[in-house]
Amino acid sequence: MARVTLDTLRKEFDRGTIVAVDDLDLEIDDGEFVTVVGPSGCGKTTTLRMVAGLEEPTSGTVEFDDEDVTDIHAKERPVAMVFQNYALYPHKTVRENMAFGLKMSTDMTTEERHERVREMAEMMGIEDLLDDKPDELSGGQKQRVALGRAIAREPEVFLFDEPLSNLDAKLRTEMRAEIQKLQKEFGVTAMYVTHDQEEAMTMGDRLAILNDGELQQVGAPTEVYQNPVNKFVAGFIGSPSMNFLDVGVETDGTTATIRDESSGLAFALSRDYVAGHDLESGPYTLGIRPENIGIVEDPTGGETLTATVEVVEPIGSDNYVHLDVNGDFLARAPANVQPEAGDEVGVVFEETDLHLFDAETGEDV
Ligand code: ADP
Ligand code: MG
Repeated sequence: MARVTLDTLRKEFDRGTIVAVDDLDLEIDDGEFVTVVGPSGCGKTTTLRMVAGLEEPTSGTVEFDDEDVTDIHAKERPVAMVFQNYALYPHKTVRENMAFGLKMSTDMTTEERHERVREMAEMMGIEDLLDDKPDELSGGQKQRVALGRAIAREPEVFLFDEPLSNLDAKLRTEMRAEIQKLQKEFGVTAMYVTHDQEEAMTMGDRLAILNDGELQQVGAPTEVYQNPVNKFVAGFIGSPSMNFLDVGVETDGTTATIRDESSGLAFALSRDYVAGHDLESGPYTLGIRPENIGIVEDPTGGETLTATVEVVEPIGSDNYVHLDVNGDFLARAPANVQPEAGDEVGVVFEETDLHLFDAETGEDV
């Protein structure tokens, strides 16, 4: 299998007026599953197409192991790609669709091809569908055929471009697990592109977060969740999204207080926190995740702030409590915490759960 290295990979369109991928550096280990996540238009598909050889980089290189493959034709690269729209040939049967890739890219005999297709179909649980045409299949079945076809070629690098976007929620969860199982079984290096942060959190060994063609952060899902490097990553990873509040920090270098006049927020930071962070007096953005907020139904005045409850949404195990703190501020509280709309409640959180971002650059401080 192969280690994939992207070195200052760049793609411009329309004579440089669009920078789709902006000098991307990324290394995917042999057998590793890396999820590339970011909003629509951030350059995910373009990156994947450059790895596949379907798009020529403006500058930079793609390497498989230590071989520079930047100038090697897509057909000659040991990659298989799975797309959102399955990309099956409508007039061919499932069997023919699965065999076609093998015909194009290997020197197997017809018999060997049929044997391989049968094996893959069995593995994907689609052996009964081999004589069907794609339009007789459900979305999930089509995606299984597309996966089986891709893996049949025994690629060294598996590329996925939002393969589950067209499936319903239940099937998506199932296929997520199935894709990961396949990838580990075959030990193939995988690059999986999605705009869905939940998919990214659950699927990758590591995540690479892109915004506007630029790599923001690479790391294990929990690492990125716990230590986002900037406000963009903090707001993108985690669901529901992190709450942000414009605050002021007052510090003398040893002690510090976070304040927000309009919501009445006042939070004294510990000396350890101040010693461990590069704080100055001035404006910051405070970030706190809904799951890290505690609600005190009968506030005593000792809370970080008090706020009015706008809406309570039960989600079974927990309640989402929407508070008015200079706009919508969301807390995820246990189901037994049931304030009513209009109630004044106390809001508390731990210092270890708060994030402070530079008000101007959005960098975590
Ligand atoms: P994503 O897959 O993350 O949604 P894309 O890689 O498709 O993003 O696109 C990144 C940017 O490049 C977008 O602004 C898109 O409009 C632009 N782009 C992609 N392909 C082309 C093209 N062939 N010609 C011009 N602009 C393109
Ligand atoms: Mg795309």
